[in-house]
Amino acid sequence: MLICHTIKEIRDFVRQARSRGLTVGFVPTMGYFHEGHLTLMRRAKEACDVVVVSIFVNPLQFGPREDYDRYPRDLDRDVSLAREVGVDAIFHPSVEEMYPPGFATHVDVEGLTECLCGLSRPGHFRGVATVVTKLFNIVRPDRAFFGQKDAQQALVIRRMVEDLNMDLEIVTVPTVREEDGLAMSSRNVYLSPEERRAATVLPRSLQAARRAYESGERDAGRLVELVRGMIAAEPRAVIDYVEIRSIPDLKPVSRLDGPALLALAVRFGSTRLIDNLVLGSPDGVL
Ligand code: AMP
Repeated sequence: MLICHTIKEIRDFVRQARSRGLTVGFVPTMGYFHEGHLTLMRRAKEACDVVVVSIFVNPLQFGPREDYDRYPRDLDRDVSLAREVGVDAIFHPSVEEMYPPGFATHVDVEGLTECLCGLSRPGHFRGVATVVTKLFNIVRPDRAFFGQKDAQQALVIRRMVEDLNMDLEIVTVPTVREEDGLAMSSRNVYLSPEERRAATVLPRSLQAARRAYESGERDAGRLVELVRGMIAAEPRAVIDYVEIRSIPDLKPVSRLDGPALLALAVRFGSTRLIDNLVLGSPDGVL
């Protein structure tokens, strides 16, 4: 497995693969791998001849009071996990490599970034769209793989790819969960044992909403209240948002007639966790 730190190195690697007629799959990440990341890599491996994974904690997508500095990092462990999965190349650039002095261009996806995490994290999706555009231009993959755990991000990227005529396919992969249902996240390591136990209210509340939906409940307000009520009963949980919005436009909905996203963000101490449920889509994926 090749480990590249410069844009030139990874470009040379991909160029060679392409010249041999191989397809390129790409998994952008911020590292500190868990089973969710590894599942994306396995999916990429199944679907493409060559798999490139980027590891880059992107300062542009963190707010000034967010966890950029303390975001967990462990390159050695990530490299050995990626190797086990059969990844062909890791791209691990420095901040200076990605944002040299004078860097001035950003990508703004309007509309669907102006709700949910876009409200509580101003500038976050601008940072995501900008770095993903750069990474797509550097790696030029045939397919890129994103987790449904970050559903709004996946929808923003799809919109951007369509709007800017980027020539690749976006594949969304279902959320990988711990045994007790908590969505895997690099940020779960921040949780104290008590907060970790309390956080299981998130998957439990989403499952309750799914059962209510399957029993015929189509009123968005009542489904949201069901989830809010369960989370509010957990003293360590502080709700940022619980909302139901349409897929793919993320417009508010009052009745669930088509595919919809029940999305939530909840704080446990200083850790903000997100999770979601796709309703009204045959396979439960975005
Ligand atoms: P991150 O390193 O957190 O930026 O995540 C990199 C990619 O992994 C993104 O596409 C995420 O949506 C995806 N991902 C993160 N957690 C999970 C999970 N629990 N299940 C599936 N995909 C995930």
